[in-house]
Amino acid sequence: MRRWKKLVMVGSILWVILFSISGLKASSAGPNQFSRLVLTNCHIIDCTERHLEPLTDMTIVIEGNQIVSLRKGKYDFKSSEKGVKVIDLKKAFVMPGLWNVHVHLSDIFPDPNHIQGGELLASAVIRAGLNAIDGLRHGFTGIRVVGDKGYLDIAWRDAFDQGLFLGPRIFACGYPVSTTGGHRGDIAGGSDGVAEIRKAVRTQIQMGVNWIKIMEVEMLDDEVKAVVEVAHHNGLRVAAHSKEPTTYRCVKLGVDCIEHGYGLRDETIKLMAAKGTFYVPTIVCNLSDQFIREREKRLAQLGFAGDPKIVWARTMISYADERSPEHALHQRLALQKAAKAGVKICAGSDSNPIGELGYLEIEQLVLSGLNPREALIAATRNCADLCGVLDKLGTVEEGKLADLVVLTGNPLENISNIRKLKMVIKDGVIVDRKSPLGKASFWDFFSSSKVKSGFLAEAEKAAGFSRGKVK
Ligand SMILES: [Zn+2]
Repeated sequence: MRRWKKLVMVGSILWVILFSISGLKASSAGPNQFSRLVLTNCHIIDCTERHLEPLTDMTIVIEGNQIVSLRKGKYDFKSSEKGVKVIDLKKAFVMPGLWNVHVHLSDIFPDPNHIQGGELLASAVIRAGLNAIDGLRHGFTGIRVVGDKGYLDIAWRDAFDQGLFLGPRIFACGYPVSTTGGHRGDIAGGSDGVAEIRKAVRTQIQMGVNWIKIMEVEMLDDEVKAVVEVAHHNGLRVAAHSKEPTTYRCVKLGVDCIEHGYGLRDETIKLMAAKGTFYVPTIVCNLSDQFIREREKRLAQLGFAGDPKIVWARTMISYADERSPEHALHQRLALQKAAKAGVKICAGSDSNPIGELGYLEIEQLVLSGLNPREALIAATRNCADLCGVLDKLGTVEEGKLADLVVLTGNPLENISNIRKLKMVIKDGVIVDRKSPLGKASFWDFFSSSKVKSGFLAEAEKAAGFSRGKVK
């Protein structure tokens, strides 16, 4: 009996060890426990130039992180196939993963809790990472960070690339290059003159950025030229926070992407189209009171208003950026003209959180005059093109990486169907959208202030809003 008991004990221990090892092995193989993922019974909005309408009744075969085939009809599953996961999408719409290419992951604007003034850099890093991971759960598989603290964009990019966390692909700018007093006087330790500007750009490159972001408004022509020269010499592109009348010279001097483009003029639009300069209008930050109300009304009518706390907070975020009716209208018309002229437009929200505000930017592109197809391309293909990875991402095509979103409604019929998210796939891995990241969301964090700032109280009064209630 004793001998038998011993055997059982040793057997149990061995079993536990073997089980642990196999568990470790399984987790090191990645979250997907299958070698082939098949999405079938779906429609595809591939966002290529070839197809204007969805491809209907399709099957997508993914092996590892790559789309290996797209074919018509349902998948014919054979029980002898091993390691295959087949998902019937029940006529859902598959499109490329979404992008948000103007983000500041750790920024809070407005900041009703006065969080940013007193927080540790490490705390900002944590918030930034959660924002990015939450963005992926909203379907944003690619983002470009155009200025953030402590090179946190590079740290999170690498953490995601190394697979430490599942997050979006990040294209990082590090710190924006600026003159002293750049960005309306905000920047104290800027760089002045060609030599200093060159050094600042090289410092960013040495830190490992993917992009150079500049605050161009205060720069002289030779300084802008120096940025473009050093960046291009090193194979990097330049994005400029830009405002007329200096936007035109930026485009002329070879800046690759115009951010905001306040007051964009017709001649600049023409030059951008001719030179292939990208435009990130951040239209969601260029709204008048009327445009904000129009959007909220539409979302409520469509049944997408959702949680009152989110409605309140995102409306406050919009009001923090509120513009004059003339300015808002000008930006809307400039966007329409740019689209018509063939300028490549890309979706970027500027404000946080990148998921919800990313949706708003895409919806706002349509409310501002783009058609849904143009808006979807602005949030997918054009962004991959902007970031130099169109050969791998940005469309649903054989040979591309499997960054996909699955929607239960057709966004070409109603752009807000981008909110009807059923599944997110990044690099061939199905993203877990259900487990909470923590107990408090961005919205809890943003709006739980006991001391409300004077600014927010004013904005609420002016807008006729009260917490959770749109009047
Ligand atoms: Zn910005």
